[in-house]
Amino acid sequence: MHYISTRNKNKLYSLTEALQKGLAEDGGLFIPEYFPKVNLTDYNMQMSYIDFAERLLQNFFKEDILDKNLREICENAFIFPVKIETIDSNTLMLDLCKGPTLSFKDFGARFLAECLNKISHKNKSTIMVATSGDTGSAVASAFYNKENTRVIVLYPKGKISEKQEKQITCWGQNILSLAVHGTFDDCQRLVKQAFNENWWQDVMNMSSANSINIGRLLPQMIYYAYTSFVFFNKNKTSPGYIIPTGNLGNATAAYWAKEMGFPIREISLATNENRVINDYLESGVFSPRKSVLTLANAMDVGNPSNFERLSQLFHDHSIFDKNVTSISVTNAEIRQTIAYFYNKYKKIICPHTATGFFVRKSKCTESWIVVSTADPCKFDDIIEPIIQENIAIPEQMQTLLMRETMYWDVKAELSDIEKIAKKYFKI
Ligand SMILES: *Cc1c(COP(=O)(O)O)cnc(C)c1O
Repeated sequence: MHYISTRNKNKLYSLTEALQKGLAEDGGLFIPEYFPKVNLTDYNMQMSYIDFAERLLQNFFKEDILDKNLREICENAFIFPVKIETIDSNTLMLDLCKGPTLSFKDFGARFLAECLNKISHKNKSTIMVATSGDTGSAVASAFYNKENTRVIVLYPKGKISEKQEKQITCWGQNILSLAVHGTFDDCQRLVKQAFNENWWQDVMNMSSANSINIGRLLPQMIYYAYTSFVFFNKNKTSPGYIIPTGNLGNATAAYWAKEMGFPIREISLATNENRVINDYLESGVFSPRKSVLTLANAMDVGNPSNFERLSQLFHDHSIFDKNVTSISVTNAEIRQTIAYFYNKYKKIICPHTATGFFVRKSKCTESWIVVSTADPCKFDDIIEPIIQENIAIPEQMQTLLMRETMYWDVKAELSDIEKIAKKYFKI
């Protein structure tokens, strides 16, 4: 299996190259050269999640030097369960928040960390990651104490929850956490800028762990493939998925699983008040813009990077429009949905997951699986006033809350970041 850039299908890369580079030289994102069609008889209900992951990913590891390590990578990465909960007769919730930092980002971050750790480095590499809240902590946790890698996490100061910030800033050692005076889009811009600068490339040996890295998306296909397969075998019909989305990473992974032929009926997206994808569906014009702050902050993205991958899969607007539906959910609707859900089911959902359940209400009676993207305890400051109840703190969070906090404030300028990085990493 080879990988190509979304901007040039003639130059072929190995998986290892794509993982190491993060972004292609032409600025495009890596995608598999093609999606192998699944043969469902290769899978069975006795398989564990790790068995399933290994079987699926073999397609994408073929002929790469990492192929021989695939089993071990899966075993080390997927150390926490994927849970499906029944909400009502035709609604299920796919709970992806049982990992060490309590969001679905743990799947991609841990898998990528295991892959990069297996690729032998002559030089230490640096991962610079922009986070709208949950990527930073997942990446920091996954790479913490991995000696060959330095991690720099950029997060928008004052625009993430207190618990999210704690999860990003509680590491130290090989993890440098920077509070950027700016927005998530500024953080993303700084990462892209660093990729184009000699000092960062040559001295720091940049690699990328944002959701643009193919090593983040491949493992995210598995939970869609796995749960649709289990659902199909039990119910003899294919489920639809409702996915809360921002940078379109998790959604792209779901479309890839569907493209391979896993039994997914349809996919529907839930966005917050950042409407760039909704406007594209309506008008056919993709116009990135500044993000606006919402209660679902990890989805506050004004220029979703993975649009480039998705529009490569669905070549033009009419095909895109046939395959993708999306509803934009307001802050008021998020609040209402959290309250409704708590009153009706006695379950607490996070603001991102609430966008998904809001969308569920407008759908038909066919079966839908709504993706739960983060544990509600990360957003206790938003949720507790709505439900008038304290949220339980899972063990993973309690452990991190006890650690010391360490971060630096920086301007949204690369020179400022360079200064601090030199000092922190003693370069
Ligand atoms: C990152 C994130 C999202 C959005 O996922 P994308 O892959 O960026 O679309 C949704 N919810 C939570 C909690 C997240 O952390």
